This record gives sequence, C-alpha cells and structure tokens, in this order.
Amino acid sequence: MRLIFLGPPGAGKGTQAARIVAKHGIPQLSTGDMLRAAVAAGTPVGVKAKAVMDAGGLVSDEIVIGIVADRIEEPDCKKGFILDGFPRTLAQAEALDAMLASKGLDLDTVLELKVDQSKLVDRIIKRAEEARAAGQPVRKDDDPEVFKTRLDAYNRDTAVVSPYYAARGQVIEIDGMQPVDDVTAVIERALAG
Ligand code: AMP
Repeated sequence: MRLIFLGPPGAGKGTQAARIVAKHGIPQLSTGDMLRAAVAAGTPVGVKAKAVMDAGGLVSDEIVIGIVADRIEEPDCKKGFILDGFPRTLAQAEALDAMLASKGLDLDTVLELKVDQSKLVDRIIKRAEEARAAGQPVRKDDDPEVFKTRLDAYNRDTAVVSPYYAARGQVIEIDGMQPVDDVTAVIERALAG
C-alpha cells in the first residue's frame, strides 16, 4: 500500500500516519522528521535546511526529492509506505511520479485531511503545551508566528498538489476536524474501501 497524506500543517497527518503504521506495518516517511534528524545530526542537508525550517519556509525541492528518493530505496519500503509532508509542491509531485514510474509502481490512495484553517493556530499552541507538559522538546516552528508562515507556504505552494491527484481520481477527502479516533476510523473505512 502506497499512500500520501495531504493537508495543512497541524491537520493531524503525522498522528494519523503513525496509526496506519501501527495497524498496517508499513513505514511512515515524514520529510519533516527526516529533515529534523538531518538538522540534529548536523549533516550537510541539515545545515542547509535549518534556517528555512526555523523560519517556516519550504526546503528546496532538490533537497527534499533527494531525501525521499534515497528513503524509498530502503528494504522496508518494499511493502509500501505512507508519505507524510511530501509532496509539498507540484515539482515534488512530478518527481514522485517519475520515481514510482521508474520502479513500475503507482500510488494507491491520497488521503486529504480537510480542516478549518482558522482553528489550526489554537491546535498548534495546544500541541506545544502538551509537548512541554510531557517534558518533550517543543518544535521551534510551532511558535504561532512561524506557524502562520507555514500555513502561508501551504496555501501558496502545496494547496495545488491535491487537485493534481484529484484529476486522476486518487484523492479521498477526510474531515480532519473530528476527534482523532473518529478520523482514524474514517480513514480505516476508506482504506478498506
Ligand atoms: P512538517 O514536520 O511536515 O511540518 O515539516 C516541518 C518543516 O520541514 C516544514 O515547515 C519545511 O520547512 C520542511 N519540510 C518538510 N517536508 C517538506 C517538503 N516536502 N518540502 C519542503 N520542505 C519540507
């Protein structure tokens, strides 16, 4: 099963993708997590990406496409994977098509979490508070001002990705404003198809 999760930052893509991992045993490929790991490790990619990420912008297509191309070559991706946070631009979507086509593979489903953007800043403040309370590090880009920049990047560059897949009839829209467990249940029903 090869899936993509679309939706603005804070829509719940990471949370829902993690639940599919647990149930279906396919890896979650979060470009945000991979980039954060590169930043933490101080790799050349991490050094290039850090300032852009801290400011809430998008890392270059070239870097992100390279990361995903390497990652899907790993043996654990043979059974499939869930892309979380990629593709975020049309160029990334086209590059993904080319990667999959070169392997004779296709996508199964694109799940789009639809949310009320006016509620997302509150959600992100809550996410930061919960992380702090649990003694976990708070993401720098979960600062409300930076978050607004991330949302702008989504509306400017990423919102066009959904129509790209919808034109092929691959998008299933999910109401992401429901309680987390309800969203999971809807997704599972959609995947059971
Ligand atoms: P996320 O964890 O998906 O919210 O991503 C955190 C940050 O990583 C984003 O705000 C971007 O700076 C960067 N990032 C993650 N995925 C991508 C991508 N596919 N294209 C460009 N930048 C990305």
